[in-house]
Amino acid sequence: MLIWYYLRYLPMEINMKKETQIVCLGRNKKWTKGVVNPPVVRASTMLFDTMEDMRFAGKNKNNGEMYYGRRGGPTHFAFQEAIAELEGGAGTALYPSGTAAISSALMSFLKAGDHLLMLDNAYEPTRALCDTLLAGFGIETTYYDPLIGAGISELIQPNTKVLFLESPGSITMEIQDVPTLSRIAHENNLIVMLDNTWASPINSRPFEMGVDISIQAATKYIVGHSDVMMGTATANTKYWPTLREHSYLLGQCTSPDDVYLASRGLRTLGVRMAQHEKNALAVANWLATRPEVDHLRHPAFETCPGHEFFKRDFSGSNGLFSFVLKEGNLKSVTALVENMDYFKMGFSWGGFESLILGVFGIDKIRTVTQWDKSKPLIRLHVGLENVDDLIADLEAGFERMNKALSK
Ligand SMILES: *Cc1c(COP(=O)(O)O)cnc(C)c1O
Repeated sequence: MLIWYYLRYLPMEINMKKETQIVCLGRNKKWTKGVVNPPVVRASTMLFDTMEDMRFAGKNKNNGEMYYGRRGGPTHFAFQEAIAELEGGAGTALYPSGTAAISSALMSFLKAGDHLLMLDNAYEPTRALCDTLLAGFGIETTYYDPLIGAGISELIQPNTKVLFLESPGSITMEIQDVPTLSRIAHENNLIVMLDNTWASPINSRPFEMGVDISIQAATKYIVGHSDVMMGTATANTKYWPTLREHSYLLGQCTSPDDVYLASRGLRTLGVRMAQHEKNALAVANWLATRPEVDHLRHPAFETCPGHEFFKRDFSGSNGLFSFVLKEGNLKSVTALVENMDYFKMGFSWGGFESLILGVFGIDKIRTVTQWDKSKPLIRLHVGLENVDDLIADLEAGFERMNKALSK
C-alpha cells in the first residue's frame, strides 16, 4: 500500500514510451485549463493586483508563472516542457528559427579569446556564423573532420570552450561518435552542443550520450508542415540557467501562434516520422539498384560514413538522405531535378512534401575534409506521398539525366 501511495507522486512520464510522450507531454492543466492542446495565449503585459502578486510572479518566473511576454506564457511553457522531456534535458529555450537557436547557444557560452571546435560539415549558416560574427567577437574556430572520434583530443587548446556536433552532418550525412567525442570533451571541461535536428526529439537520446545542449530546428519535423520557423535549445541542469538567461538577454522569443502550430505538429511526430522512414527506405533501396548511383548517403546504409554509430545510437531514420551519382555535370543534374512531378526543388525539409536538391560546391564549404566534386550529390527529402509515385518520378528524372549525358 505504502509504495502505491508514493508512486502516485512520481512523474507519470517515467515509464512512457516516445509515442505516448508525444501525445501526453506539455498538457499540464495549469496551462491548458483542460483543453486538449495548449490554447494560444497572446500577451506582452501581465497585470498584477498587488505588490505581493508581482513579487511572487518575479520569483517564480522560471517556474511556470507568467511575468512578462518575452519570458513566454502558457502556450510556450507547455511546449517547452514537452520538448525538454522528450530530449531528456532540464529545460528548453525557444527561438524564432533553428539558426537563432544555434547562434544563441554559442553566444551564450563563448566570449572573446575563447576557442570553438566545429565540425567541417556543419549546416552552412552555422559555419558562416563562426567565420563572420563569432570571428569578429574574437572567438576562434577550428574545423574538424566529423569522423575524427578520439582524435579530437589533439585539437583541444587551453582556451577551447565548446565542442559543436551535428550528427548526421549536413548534405554529406557523416554520423559522429557522439559518446566518445562527449567523453573527451568533458575530460577537458568543454561544453558539448549538438545540432540534433535530423534525429528530432524521438530518434536519439542526446543527454544519455553526454551532450550538454541539444538543438533542434523545429522548423523541420516538429512543425512538420513547412509553415513555421522555430528553434529549440535544451540544456542539462548545469547549463540550463545560463542558456535561459543569456537567450533572454539576446531578446529571443517566439509568437504563441507559432508555438501553437509547433505543439500541434508535435502530436503527430511519431506517425509522420515512421512513414517518412518507410518511404525513404523504399526509395533508397530502389536507388541502390540503379546503375547511375555511385553510393547512398543514407545513415541506415553501410555506404554512409559512420553507419556503425547510426546503428548504435539512433532508434530510427527519417525522410532525409543524399546519394552520389557516378558521373554528371550541371546540365545532367539540371535535367534530373527540373520537371519532377513530386520531388520539388526547395530548401529546408521535414514537411509532409518531397523535395530534391542538386548540390554543387561542397568542396568550397569544407576545409579539412576532401570531397570529390566530379560526382554530383543529390539530396532528397522523401515525403508522405505514395512511394510508387515517388519512384516513378525519379525514374523519369534519371531518363532525362541519361539523355542529357549522352548528348
Ligand atoms: C534547417 C536546419 C537548421 C536551421 O533551421 P532554420 O529554422 O531554418 O533556421 C539548423 N540545422 C540543421 C541541421 C538544419 O537542417
